[in-house]
Amino acid sequence: MIDKVIPYGRQCITDEDVQAVVETLRSDYLTQGPKITEFEYAFARYVGAKYAVAVNNATAGLHLAVSSLAVKPGDKVIVTPMTFAASANCVRYCGGEVVFCDIDKDTYLMDVVKLRQLLVENPKGTFKGIIPVDFAGYPQNLEELKEIADEYGLWILEDACHAPGGYFVDRSGERQYCGNGRFANAGVFSFHPVKHIATGEGGMVTTNDEELYKKLCLYRTHGITKDPTSLHENHGGWYYEMQQLGFNYRMTDFQAALGISQLSRADAGLARRQEIANRYDEAFQDIQGIKIPYRAGNVYHAFHLYVIQVEDRLGLYNYLRANKILAQVHYVPVHLQPYYRELGNKSGDCPVAEEYYKHCLSLPMYPTLTDEEQQYVIDSVLAFMQ
Ligand SMILES: *Cc1c(COP(=O)(O)O)cnc(C)c1O
Repeated sequence: MIDKVIPYGRQCITDEDVQAVVETLRSDYLTQGPKITEFEYAFARYVGAKYAVAVNNATAGLHLAVSSLAVKPGDKVIVTPMTFAASANCVRYCGGEVVFCDIDKDTYLMDVVKLRQLLVENPKGTFKGIIPVDFAGYPQNLEELKEIADEYGLWILEDACHAPGGYFVDRSGERQYCGNGRFANAGVFSFHPVKHIATGEGGMVTTNDEELYKKLCLYRTHGITKDPTSLHENHGGWYYEMQQLGFNYRMTDFQAALGISQLSRADAGLARRQEIANRYDEAFQDIQGIKIPYRAGNVYHAFHLYVIQVEDRLGLYNYLRANKILAQVHYVPVHLQPYYRELGNKSGDCPVAEEYYKHCLSLPMYPTLTDEEQQYVIDSVLAFMQ
């Protein structure tokens, strides 16, 4: 028996992190200062995107992105049901309509075959955009998705909250990192404590599109600008204009300082997640009744989550909980949430996601999970399965 509870995910805060935050707290800027730009620059480099815009959380980042992509009331946007509700909610904030597209049974990502079906069955122009999610850290193949999107004139907003550092290898053999903006209009990341990089609350929007980048910056700060080149008039140095109905979705400088410090350890964290995943794989691959996560040869899975499928999921969940292991379920399919049912979605709309939901369980997965703790998790799962 272990003495403390083992969660499914948790942050790792070092003395260097604390030092970085304290230094910024004692500096001239608590917000709108130099740490924001430094974090944005470092993060853009990390994922290989041209631009990055720091925001107060990923939900705000998603709203910022769809606002900048000009989603309007009635616009239809295609979203995967196997995600956190925020991936879909952003469309609703703008009055748009969410159309759910079922997932692939192996990757648990939006199924491109079903996506194509959806597009073929409706008149061209029905949909405005697609929001795929790199679920659990598995990178969606956006090269493939972009071909479809281009054919139908759709934008792509990649919800990469689970996958900083994840990549797939494209047809020309190049690594395409999640959120790098090569095939998507924008990507969104979260720095919630259960995610790879923690800033408390926090997020980042990435893009390669300069126009979109300018809009993201404008909407992040009330729609207000002081940029002389874009002002309608200019009354002097103090003068600013509110040109759009924007928001205050800014991150603070002390959070950005924490983000910079965390980012410097991101690769080590990813490597540790791989180690943990490999060890789970080895322990469970030959166990009847456990389905381990699928990994294609051309992807580097970022393993935000390690999801297994079992027949008696409730039984295993309760058993682990009684043994202080807080496994978790990701997710109740979004289309089955009461709010989305109210909008006309129902059981049977996305059968693969619904079947997956009945059996999925996320086991503890975070860089500071010790070998001993992981062994205890493995032994507990195996004890239940016997
Ligand atoms: C965590 C998460 C979000 C929301 O992130 P916040 O920073 O908490 O707003 C959005 N989408 C996905 C897929 C997530 O996992």
